[in-house]
Amino acid sequence: MRKNVIAANWKMNKVLSEANQFADAVVNKVPADEHVEAVVCAPFPFLPALVEKTKGSPIKIGAQNMHYEESGAFTGEVSPVMLKDLGVTHVVIGHSERRAYFAETDEMVNKKTHAAFNHNLLPVICVGETLEQREANETMNHIETQVQKALKGLSNAQTASVIIAYEPIWAIGTGKTASSEDANEVCTHIRNVMKKITSEEVAEKVVIQYGGSVKPANVDELLAQSDIDGALVGGASLEPDSFLKLVEAGTK
Ligand code: PGA
Repeated sequence: MRKNVIAANWKMNKVLSEANQFADAVVNKVPADEHVEAVVCAPFPFLPALVEKTKGSPIKIGAQNMHYEESGAFTGEVSPVMLKDLGVTHVVIGHSERRAYFAETDEMVNKKTHAAFNHNLLPVICVGETLEQREANETMNHIETQVQKALKGLSNAQTASVIIAYEPIWAIGTGKTASSEDANEVCTHIRNVMKKITSEEVAEKVVIQYGGSVKPANVDELLAQSDIDGALVGGASLEPDSFLKLVEAGTK
């Protein structure tokens, strides 16, 4: 039985005091539930405080990006070693905003995924099509390519523990959600691609999230789909009440 992973992606929002207030508001309210895992992916400067504040709770803390090298002359970058040392457990890799604004390629996504596993961090790998690709019927091919390139060279055990976030780019921050059937169709496709590159047994273990304008009002319908195992949530994850509602939905 796969867990629902509800991951907040705060993007470049909040200041430290607001991050702390959020943690104080949710820390005793996220249930320890076998069906759900709650993760907060926050900007780097807040990670130590969030790890500290959520210690002993079921909440996991994630980063939104990292470099694939362990250390060295990479001004402005943050390494997997640094994240692990802080007590971070998850890292978002290849978000469409990183791919679009910071020129991240599938090859970099693959290197970062390997680096995450080498340092015992769980990668949340983002894939998704543009509106143009969807309208040109290129969604399935594009997603297959992104998944195959991201996972290249991983062992079956590693592949079984990745989290894939399917985020149609046209649905991110726009208020437009893919219909739950359309979202599930692509998530099922992702699982089939994983079956092809590994095995049915491995593919059935992989958590596949949907992301793109998920909110308390639409999360139940999305999570009810056969191949959607959670959500990566931007806007609706910023407020404690809304985040708690999303996590609650994951417990069912
Ligand atoms: P959104 O962002 O929920 O604000 O659409 C999702 C994401 O980019 O991860």
